[in-house]
Amino acid sequence: MILHRSTVSQPSSKRRLRWAIALGACLLMAACSGPATVGPPEVDVPTPLPEGIDFDPDVEAGEEDEDCEPTASYAPGSVTAEQARATLGDAEHVAVGISQSTNLMGYRDPVGGDLAGFDIDIAKAIVGHLMGDETKVTWVPMTSGEREEEVNAGTVDMVVRTMTMTCERWEDVEFSSEYYHGGQRLLVPVDSGIAGLADLTAEHRVCTGASSTSPKNIAALSEAQPVTVPDFNDCLVLLQQGTVDAITTDDCILAGMAIQDPTLEVVGEAFSEEPYAVAFAKGNTDLARYVNGVLETMRADGTWQDLYDTWLAEHLGSATAPAPVYQD
Ligand code: GLU
Repeated sequence: MILHRSTVSQPSSKRRLRWAIALGACLLMAACSGPATVGPPEVDVPTPLPEGIDFDPDVEAGEEDEDCEPTASYAPGSVTAEQARATLGDAEHVAVGISQSTNLMGYRDPVGGDLAGFDIDIAKAIVGHLMGDETKVTWVPMTSGEREEEVNAGTVDMVVRTMTMTCERWEDVEFSSEYYHGGQRLLVPVDSGIAGLADLTAEHRVCTGASSTSPKNIAALSEAQPVTVPDFNDCLVLLQQGTVDAITTDDCILAGMAIQDPTLEVVGEAFSEEPYAVAFAKGNTDLARYVNGVLETMRADGTWQDLYDTWLAEHLGSATAPAPVYQD
């Protein structure tokens, strides 16, 4: 029995000894490799980039052509709501092209998920007059590059999406009168040392929206390298990642981005004129005239001012409605 106990207990104590040595070694290793030397493994993860990004876009530098008076629309006349409704693709709903990711202008409210913003409220007011019910609307999110094509294809009846009236665009669409007067500016990190256009060099990458007025404007006035994305909203992440040095687009859009990231600031003076209007299919002047009548009412009854003060005044300063210009 003693022998038996001895034969059994001997290997057991050897095992304990081995365990003790192993444990000591582990503790020693752990002590030597403290938190300072433990870190994530170094792997080369490529920075995620938005689809359609172009680091060397073919931008034709130059001011917008001045072959027309871009803000001149059609005088509101005798077009009735009934006549205007007859131009709609679906008699029950107005299909409106919008952005759903442009803070302040057209975006999804994180609380509740409803669409909100200055453009959205302008569109709701128009739909309210036209249909007698502002909920009779079908919202169609789209990028800047899709606006002209979709409204002419009849996918939407109108576009209310930060859209500048230009002579070039007048060739393809009809515009309402101007409902917001913007200008192009720069958004940069607060410690960037860039205080305006004059500080940009050929070394700087400036992100902006493809198919928008912005690349042409920046290329005309700066040596900086434009980087374009289909939706200018994707520029925000690219600036936060450090992939680009600045964003350039309209003041109201940049103000919406700056709210989302306090490490960024809008700098410099506006260096373009961006008169915003509602766009319609080429030839649909009845709807344009009717909407111009609604915009007249909104200027006169204080609706425009209420909407501006609600969405933009705090970020862009006080303003009054742009005066309408008519070509006939
Ligand atoms: N307002 C400019 C434009 O219509 C820039 C913003 C945008 O692309 O929507 O091109």
